[in-house]
Amino acid sequence: MVATVGLTACGSDDDGGDTATPNAAASFAPGTTMAKLHDAGKITVGTKFDQNLFGLKNLSGKPEGFDVEIAEIVTDALGIPRDKVNFVETVSANREPFIQQGRVDMVVATYTINDKRKKVVDFAGPYYVAGQSIMVAKNNTDITGKDSLAGKKVCSVSGSTPAENIRKVAPAAQLVLFDVYSKCADALKNKQVDAVTTDNVILLGLIDKDPDAFKLVGGTFTKEPYGIGIKKGDTTFQTFINDTLEASYKDGRWAKAFSSTVGKVEPTTPTPPPVDRYTS
Ligand code: GLU
Repeated sequence: MVATVGLTACGSDDDGGDTATPNAAASFAPGTTMAKLHDAGKITVGTKFDQNLFGLKNLSGKPEGFDVEIAEIVTDALGIPRDKVNFVETVSANREPFIQQGRVDMVVATYTINDKRKKVVDFAGPYYVAGQSIMVAKNNTDITGKDSLAGKKVCSVSGSTPAENIRKVAPAAQLVLFDVYSKCADALKNKQVDAVTTDNVILLGLIDKDPDAFKLVGGTFTKEPYGIGIKKGDTTFQTFINDTLEASYKDGRWAKAFSSTVGKVEPTTPTPPPVDRYTS
């Protein structure tokens, strides 16, 4: 394994802006994805563009949030300058195809690690564990959680784990699917749907933007471990990202990335989950 020690010195005092000095001196074994990306001096990363706290495009066109910070921890370790990190939008349904087709080098996009997805892509991480929940209009009184959704219009996103799971836990609900969660929030606001379901922290990001309109009900009812998606079988890259995540857990960069983003709605920074060095 290529040593990644030393990469931490650079970005640690940085606030996630474009001024960080990546690990320019990094050197990697020839033929590895790390060497290819480092030598190219650029990388393409898939993330969300409409998810407050995780990946939300700002006015200058750059996405901001925890996923973006996590991606930059990895790209810094690869020695790629921040302005050479090309973020492209991946919505829930196109994450696997974008990785498989090589349109992105990695995906950091509230991306749940699960066995179905592991058949076609691989994951480093998890770097966070969310849980599925339900969001309703602030003045709603009849929906109190997943068990009161029968006959209700429930919005989620195609290709997401919450959309799949809600069919099982609330089979009598009427599922309405869009490509992104911001459209579900609009539909809830316009009373076209009765509820939105996805990961609690995504919903908290929507509530943060519109606190008078929405609220969460019923707590969480799944575990959604967020991983970094990469090409299937690239074990060396997977190990490198896992090592990089672990280093960021130890030196405070992970905690800083969390507190400066999701920390807005989750004031207590959790202990990061142990990375899962699975083999399959
Ligand atoms: N974490 C879930 C998933 O990967 C929901 C969030 C999303 O759709 O990005 O499907």
